[in-house]
Formats: sequence, structure tokens, C-alpha cells
Amino acid sequence: MPESTTQVVVIGAGPGGYAAAFYAADRGMQVALVDPEPNPGGVCLYRGCIPSKALLHVAEVLGEARHAEAWGISFGEPQIDLDKVRAFKDKVVAQLTGGVGQVGRMRKITYIQGRAEFRDARSVQIGHEGKEAVTLAFEHAILATGSRPATVPGLSIESPRVMDSTAALDLPDVPRSLLVVGGGYIGLELGTVYAALGSKVTVVEMTDGLLPGADRDLVNVLARRIETIAEAVLLNTKVVGMKEAGSGIAVTFEGALPEGMPKERTFDRVLVAVGRRPNSAVPGLERTSVRVDRRGFIEVDAARRTAEANIYAIGDVVGEPMLAHKASHEARVAVDAILGERVAFEPLAIPAVVFTDPELAWCGLTETDAARQKREVAVTRFPWGASGRAITLDRTDGMTKLVLDPQSERVLGVGIVGLGAGELISEGVLAVEMGANASDVKLSIHPHPTLSETLMEAAEMFFGQATHVYKPKRK
Ligand code: FAD
Ligand code: NAD
Repeated sequence: MPESTTQVVVIGAGPGGYAAAFYAADRGMQVALVDPEPNPGGVCLYRGCIPSKALLHVAEVLGEARHAEAWGISFGEPQIDLDKVRAFKDKVVAQLTGGVGQVGRMRKITYIQGRAEFRDARSVQIGHEGKEAVTLAFEHAILATGSRPATVPGLSIESPRVMDSTAALDLPDVPRSLLVVGGGYIGLELGTVYAALGSKVTVVEMTDGLLPGADRDLVNVLARRIETIAEAVLLNTKVVGMKEAGSGIAVTFEGALPEGMPKERTFDRVLVAVGRRPNSAVPGLERTSVRVDRRGFIEVDAARRTAEANIYAIGDVVGEPMLAHKASHEARVAVDAILGERVAFEPLAIPAVVFTDPELAWCGLTETDAARQKREVAVTRFPWGASGRAITLDRTDGMTKLVLDPQSERVLGVGIVGLGAGELISEGVLAVEMGANASDVKLSIHPHPTLSETLMEAAEMFFGQATHVYKPKRK
């Protein structure tokens, strides 16, 4: 078996793994990057963030064209060529993964297509179908093996009509009716895509609200919109049975169904999006001292070092939030630690964005977290009905919210729901990370008319002085 050596091997080439490999190479190390795909990208680029956002862009254009009727412009019913939509999405994926592969080669990284198995804590064997396995000895390893879709225990049936996110992104057709199981990130994003393409979408969520982890007053704005695009949103409801029935899937519900709704209904397709599970069962890992916790995440310290001193782990496989940008930032910490620097992954704010219409974004401390921690906070909310820019866009369904320390006036968290919230949240991240206070945000001149002004005016509200909202500070 051919044998080679490297200073660092990175296992898994998602946004955690390829960021780690690239940064390690930039810092002068000899690097090998291993992944089954022909190019780096992982879940995010091949079957996650990127293809879903390409399709959400299509959905946004469809929504905007329909909305334009209210302004006196009508385009008529859209003609959807699904093959072309799919081809656009595939082109986006190919362009980005190809480009990332190219910048990897420019950095002289050895990219090995295949799956890694640990032989011991100093070497891996890499196999790929039809090719002879290779052995790679390493000084340091970074595990970035990511995650996979969770399934509902007892409900998995073998049917192409029951899809996970990967199958749904393949756009097999536009089903007349689609049941989305799980009202989280994926359910709402891909539900939005299918609803825009013409499916009648029903969302079933087992808790009492959509996006259980997010602040309620932000979610409420989104939920009102989702109710207009979905056929039904069933909260406090679970799917307890699924079986093939003719050309559809017969689904049995249990829970708080609306009056008159039968417990069993047939849908053309079902999308199951009930969370993700870490890929910590890396073959041969038991031959090392790496430990996995009860939830299946690889245990790491603040520098992302596992219980095996020369093996690090980053990204979805080490814990929540399972977000691409969290993985890429952990990557740099792990590489710095390998280089002997005293580092820790301790962000104050990891932004979260749900790319629905409207978008929902937050960072730092949320009002819900503050209540849970019994921490006293001041909260200001700027309604987008008072934003000139939101009015020009005919999209006043938004809110910008600051969570502040009442004494120091420091910005602890920011939440935004509304058009482009995902772009706006970065100012919040900077404010939280730099320890900005309400005056800093208030005194920074924001361009007019923009949605970014809503952050400035939310800060002005703390002092009871928002230009466009009359809400004097309580004495
Ligand atoms: P991954 O991207 O999961 O990559 C891990 C890689 O390791 C994979 O290629 C896998 O094949 C490989 N691998 C596994 N085992 C081995 C092995 N033994 N040997 C070699 N290789 C191995 N996050 C966001 O921040 N924004 C978004 O908009 C967003 N949208 C999403 C949409 C969808 C539909 C999904 C499913 C996810 C989305 N996410 C989003 C989450 C995001 O994709 C993940 O958080 C991110 O990909 C995690 O990166 P990672 O590097 O930890 O692992
Ligand atoms: P999620 O955790 O966001 O949502 C899953 C939802 O399913 C939850 O609301 C949960 O209460 C519900 N649920 C669980 N079991 C259920 C059942 N039996 N019946 C009905 N509802 C049930 O998970 P997801 O949507 O699968 O996404 C997985 C992860 O991928 C996300 O947590 C996020 O980290 C990442 N992601 C991020 C983005 C983004 O950043 N925009 C987009 C997609 C995915």
C-alpha cells in the first residue's frame, strides 16, 4: 500500500475542513485534505447552504414578481422550467466547488479524494472506490467530518417520495402537495422554495412555535408571512405514521390539529427536516483516545483539541450551532493551536440567519436567553413600519431589536427580522464583539434611506429619541 507523510491531515473538506487546510497552508504547514467529493465543499457547498440559497433566490424573484402586481406591474403567471432551475443551482455548486478546489491547489495542498479511516493516532488509511487505498502518516489531524440529516425514529420508510434536504435540493418535481416535517431552518427555507414554485405546503412542528431556538417576537413576524404562503402550519403536532399510498404518502398526525382536519392525509411528497446528527463515527476512531459525548459530538477543549493531544476537531461534529461560519472560525483556532499559540474559541456572537422571506437573523444574547439566565436587560424594538427604506420597498414586515445592558448600555445582542436581515446582522456582530454601547450605534452615521438605519434608530429608542418613532423614555 503506498505510504506518505504530512504535517497536518484534515479529514472532511466542508467549510470547517477546507478553511483549516487553507489556513494551515498559509501558515507554512504541509497539508493533506481528505474528502469523498472531487472538490472541497462538504455539505455546505454541495448540498446545504449554497444550493439552498440559489433556489431561495429563485423563490425571491418569483415572490417579488407576484408582489409587483400591487404596484401596477404584472408579468402574468410564471412559466417554470424546472430543468433550467436545477441546472442553475448545479452550475452555482460546480462554480464554487471548482473555484475552492483551484485555490486549494494554488496553496499546494494535497487533496485526496476518499474516506479516511484511523489506523492509530498517527496514521490514516484512505480508500476510494476503484482505487488502491493509501496510507498517510501525520503529525496532527483535524477532524471536520460534519453532520447528516436526523431521521424520525420508527418513521423511516424507503420511498423516493419521502425526502431529506439532499433529495429535496435535487428538485425531482414540483409536488402538488408537500408536507414539511420540522419547522426549523431547513423546513422553512426549503418549504419557502417549494411554495414559491407552486406546491401547497403544510408544515408540521412538534413544539408550540416555528424555529424554537429564536426570539418569539421576531419569529411572530415571519410566522405571519409563512401562514400566507403555506397551506397550513400545524404546531404542537407530530407525525406518528407514514406509508406509501398510491402515488403519495399517507401521513398520520397526532396533536393539536385544527378543527375538522382529519388525522390522516395523503401528500404527494414529504420533506423530513428534524435536525442533524454529527458524523462522529469516523472509522477507526476507537484506535485513538478521542472521546465522543452522549449526544454524539466529539469532545474538544477551548482550542478544539480532542482527548488525543495531536488530534483536533471542528465544525458540526463538535457541537451546535451547526453553522458553516462557526466551523470556519473554529478551523483557524485549531490551526493556531497546532502552531503552539495560546488560543480559545470564545466568540461573543455567532450570527444565525434563516434565509426565509422575510429573513430572520440574530447574534449574541437573545431576550429568551436573558430571561433563562435571569439576567436584567433593556430591550428596544424598532418597527420597520417607521423605516423610510422599508416603506419604499413595500416591505414593512420587519423589526430590529437590541438587547442591552441597562447599566453600561453595552450591546449584548441584536435580532432582526425583515428583508435582508442576513446582511444587516453583521453590524450587530461587530457591535457585540467590540463592546459597542447604545451611544456608539446611535452616533454612527448610517446612510439614508437604508434598512441599516433601523439599527441606529433602535439604539436611539433606548434614549427615547428615535427620530421616526415617538416613544419617550420612561422616567
Ligand atoms: P460538512 O460541511 O458537513 O463537511 C464534512 C465533510 O466531511 C463532508 O464532505 C463529508 O463527506 C466528509 N467526511 C465525513 N466523514 C469522512 C471521512 N471518514 N473521511 C473523509 N471525509 C469525510 N449553514 C450556514 O451557516 N448557512 C446556511 O445557509 C446553511 N444552510 C444549510 C442548508 C442545508 C439544506 C443544510 C443541510 C445545511 C445548511 N447549513 C447552513 C449548515 C452547514 O451546511 C453546516 O453547518 C456546515 O456544512 C458544517 O461544516 P463542516 O465543515 O463541519 O462539515
Ligand atoms: P432544526 O433544528 O433547525 O429544526 C428541526 C425542527 O424539527 C425543530 O423545530 C424541531 O422541534 C422539529 N422536530 C423535531 N422532531 C420532530 C417531529 N418528530 N415532528 C415534527 N417536528 C419535529 O433542524 P433542520 O431544519 O433540520 O436544520 C439542521 C441544522 O442545519 C440547523 O439547526 C442549522 O444548524 C443548520 N442549517 C442552517 C441554515 C442556515 O444557517 N440558514 C439552513 C439550514 C440548516
